[in-house]
Amino acid sequence: MAEAKSGSMDKIVALCKRRGFIFQSSEIYGGIGGFWDYGPLGTELKRNVKDAWWQDMVRNPPPGPDGREFQMVGLDCSIIMNPKVWEASGHVGGFSDPMVDCRACKGRFREDQLDESPCPKKPSKMAGQHGDCDLTEPREFNLMFKTFIGALEDSSNVAYLRPETAQGIFANFKNVIDSSRVKLPLGIAQIGKSFRNEINPRNFTFRSREFEQYEIEFFCHEEEAPIWYEFWRDVRHSWYTGLGLTSEKLILRNHEGAELAHYAKACADVEYDFPFGLAELEGIANRTNYDLKAHMDKSGKDLSYFDPQRGEKGERYVPYVIEPSGGVDRSVLAFITEAYTVDENRASPELMKFHPRLAPIKAAIFPLVAKDGMPDIAKPIYDEIRKHHNCQYDAKQSIGKRYARMDEAGTPVCFTIDGQTKEDGTVTVRNRDDASQERIDKSRCLQYLQDQLAAD
Ligand code: ATP
Repeated sequence: MAEAKSGSMDKIVALCKRRGFIFQSSEIYGGIGGFWDYGPLGTELKRNVKDAWWQDMVRNPPPGPDGREFQMVGLDCSIIMNPKVWEASGHVGGFSDPMVDCRACKGRFREDQLDESPCPKKPSKMAGQHGDCDLTEPREFNLMFKTFIGALEDSSNVAYLRPETAQGIFANFKNVIDSSRVKLPLGIAQIGKSFRNEINPRNFTFRSREFEQYEIEFFCHEEEAPIWYEFWRDVRHSWYTGLGLTSEKLILRNHEGAELAHYAKACADVEYDFPFGLAELEGIANRTNYDLKAHMDKSGKDLSYFDPQRGEKGERYVPYVIEPSGGVDRSVLAFITEAYTVDENRASPELMKFHPRLAPIKAAIFPLVAKDGMPDIAKPIYDEIRKHHNCQYDAKQSIGKRYARMDEAGTPVCFTIDGQTKEDGTVTVRNRDDASQERIDKSRCLQYLQDQLAAD
């Protein structure tokens, strides 16, 4: 994957900080590499992305292929699990990238990324290319964060912060089947934090050490796995386009031959062409029944499923799994990148053209001036809309500055109460994308907004 620096990423990072989308974690202490905080606008945006995913994948997923029925349920697993989970999954043994250390600068670099990793002593040169560089042989470096449970810090108390949400789902497969009246094909979905001690966190939030994932493990019979794989690959790709990643920057890339993980039968990545290069937002894989079998071996528990609808007497089998596994922070960054627009015809040229479902603030209500009875008309409109949608009331500064602030936040519509409102009861509606204006009756503001949100 190409990940290089680009000028326009700097502008996006600057807007994110200035307008409170994303801050460096612990900034007042100089920050901490690979960790990020979401500010007020970023928190709303990220929440909208997660809500859209949950609504569109779990509560109201698209119809199955050829009218096939399926069920979706949710899980919310602990971050720290029994370490045996990570032995069974292969993370304790194998979740590592070969690394080289530099004896001269004490830097540590991924062996496969040496030509993208600047030498800390001379950043214009890459690691190993500066005369003083003194690299070791490659060594394995485990990406899982380690901690200790209880008072004693010894090897019997070691635990790990989960590096993916998937294993919590596999470990609970039987619990879900036994406790909920569900049958296969069944998807179990989870959104939650994961942690990886990335050697070279970079490209803003794209490669972080703490990040959030949205994952589905979709359990089905082996024979049906290829159909469900194609279904989920296409559903996940079109979910991103439906939420505004409509440009040619979004691609679906099928993995071939050697690129496939040893246990996977098929895999595709949804990738986005960021200013730093084409990079993965989500992977969709046919993982076979590798994980459930590994947990059966390690735990000694039977994780097979009896399917009464197969054959004459039913069939017992260990289900295959289709896994759409995405990163919330990466998709938030893609939505931000796609929304970022510069319109030189505006006094403040930067605006964020978020899809209305994702926009952190759905509407703003402005009295043109904070007197002449205008706030008295504006406040009830604000109070009505805020019961349903995140909206903002602002009576300070010139109206042009207030519109510009809302453009930068990506707010689709603004309602302005002005002199004419008192005469004929109409307000100005101002549209973010083309700055066009029209007048509607003040009683129609909420309905107008809801029509706009439903239209896209
Ligand atoms: P990469 O090759 O970019 O490291 P990966 O193939 O290891 O990613 P997976 O293990 O498939 O990633 O994880 C599923 C998803 O989790 C990824 O598609 C990505 O969106 C997200 N993800 C993985 N690692 C990170 C990270 N360090 N920071 C942010 N998101 C991540």
